[in-house]
Amino acid sequence: MESKPTYHRGSRDGKAPFKGDPLDGIKPYYDLIVIGSGLAGMTAANVLGRAGFSVLLTEQHYNFGGMATWFKRKGGHIFDISLHGFPFGMKKTCRKYWSQAIADRIVPLESITFKNPQFELETSFTKEDFTHHLVQTFGQKRSKVEDFYQALRAMNFFDDSGETTGELFERFFPGRNDVHRLLMEPISYANGSSLADPAISYGIVFSNFMNKGVYTYSGGTDHFIGQCKRELKKSGVELRNRVQVARILVQGGRAHGIEAIDSQGQRHTIEAGCVLSNANLKTTIERLVGPQHFRPDYLEGFSKVRLNNSSTQVYMGLRAGEELPFTTDLQFTSTRERFDSPSLCDKHGESRTFSYYYPKTRPGSDRYTIVSSMNANWADWTGLSDAEYEADKQRLIEDTLCCLERSHPGIRSKLDHIEAATPRTFEFYTQHAQGSSFGTKFEGLAYSMNLSEEIEGLYHAGSVGIIMSGWLGAANYGVITANKVDAFLHSLVNSPA
Ligand SMILES: Cc1cc2nc3c(=O)[nH]c(=O)nc-3n(C[C@H](O)[C@H](O)[C@H](O)COP(=O)(O)OP(=O)(O)OC[C@H]3O[C@@H](n4cnc5c(N)ncnc54)[C@H](O)[C@@H]3O)c2cc1C
Repeated sequence: MESKPTYHRGSRDGKAPFKGDPLDGIKPYYDLIVIGSGLAGMTAANVLGRAGFSVLLTEQHYNFGGMATWFKRKGGHIFDISLHGFPFGMKKTCRKYWSQAIADRIVPLESITFKNPQFELETSFTKEDFTHHLVQTFGQKRSKVEDFYQALRAMNFFDDSGETTGELFERFFPGRNDVHRLLMEPISYANGSSLADPAISYGIVFSNFMNKGVYTYSGGTDHFIGQCKRELKKSGVELRNRVQVARILVQGGRAHGIEAIDSQGQRHTIEAGCVLSNANLKTTIERLVGPQHFRPDYLEGFSKVRLNNSSTQVYMGLRAGEELPFTTDLQFTSTRERFDSPSLCDKHGESRTFSYYYPKTRPGSDRYTIVSSMNANWADWTGLSDAEYEADKQRLIEDTLCCLERSHPGIRSKLDHIEAATPRTFEFYTQHAQGSSFGTKFEGLAYSMNLSEEIEGLYHAGSVGIIMSGWLGAANYGVITANKVDAFLHSLVNSPA
């Protein structure tokens, strides 16, 4: 008899109970304490551990990886949260700052499709194929397309003209909402950016993706994070999960350690040469440090920094033994007649992505899962009663299934697990203010980069400013910040004091 799918009550059911002291054997002092094990925090820790510094990596969750995570459910399901695709550059970053073995598992997606009332197409997202579509499918002049790429390549962070992405598109492809959709939709899902954001942030991210297509990690997020943990241990980094950092200790304008709370509620003070926060930038400045430690004009400017949007996801697991013929790896789908940025975040909107995970995701496995993702606004999911929240999640699941059935009739009968995550879920698991999936908007970047000019020995690395988000952006930002920390720690060693 066919069993009904399990509608899991959701992902707010807390963290696994833990006996024991997560800070047992901790040293009183480290050269560096990293708060948070997202890709930026982990990569920075690995670079600095390898460089010979003593590094403590603290994580409040029981898993390391931050948003680069997965979860398991009864029936043998493993769901990946943010393994939809990243640029080819991740291969080089992993080879240089992690290991050749990790880099070797980075493989291209075979197919990316778009399905909306304006066009249906398949692309490998390489420059060649994308150009082919712009010219053949959308009738754009090749020279115009080349000029567009050239304009993107010429953009640089220190020479921002103030043009928005929408203005950039109008300049090259005026009145072509369908072309704007092709160019913008994937990037909006990748980093929460919109037509109103600075063109510079679009140019950098789009050029990264367009290099050689979209890539994934063969083995799944659990394998990836397992390999990262192995490397961190080899680099001598001390890894501690289930440790909530409550405060960054600052005295006389200088960060000198943290106050951490273990899972038993015990407070511990740990001293450090410097501190790198991978927590959300807002949380770092407003809660972990506290406004009293910053200059008024920095705070005044920082108060205008906007958080990026959040996400919803629906996780669907096929029953053991069921199969899903290969159609595509990643589909951008919408029933909206025209493209506009705000509607991508509509609570019960018509636009979503489907990531299909076939057995090739975890070679040796014979299982299939599908994850649907939408961008979302925090305000739509907060302040609801429990009953309203559950009802809205059920509606999200039902809308997603109806949409999926249009491409895969009868898919419901193959599923035996379905559950949804909302901005509240992301906030709960990562402590990002408002469940922000991609840190802050562009204006946050300067505040993140200049943090150590405000408070000596305090650094930030993590999703921020659109450009530094995503697996590649976060990992690379970890490296950039690690280089600054390295210089600072060397200056401490060399200073006569
Ligand atoms: C639904 C979704 C889909 C995505 N899809 C993709 C994708 O396909 N490709 C891609 O490249 N990117 C994707 N991303 C984005 C990508 O996952 C993130 O940009 C990246 O992983 C963020 O890394 P990070 O270093 O900023 O830290 P985060 O992953 O945000 O991690 C921060 C860590 O800090 C910890 N922390 C916070 N506060 C404290 C504290 N006080 N004490 C201790 N620990 C603390 C948190 O628990 C967390 O582990 C997606 C994101 C979401 C939400």
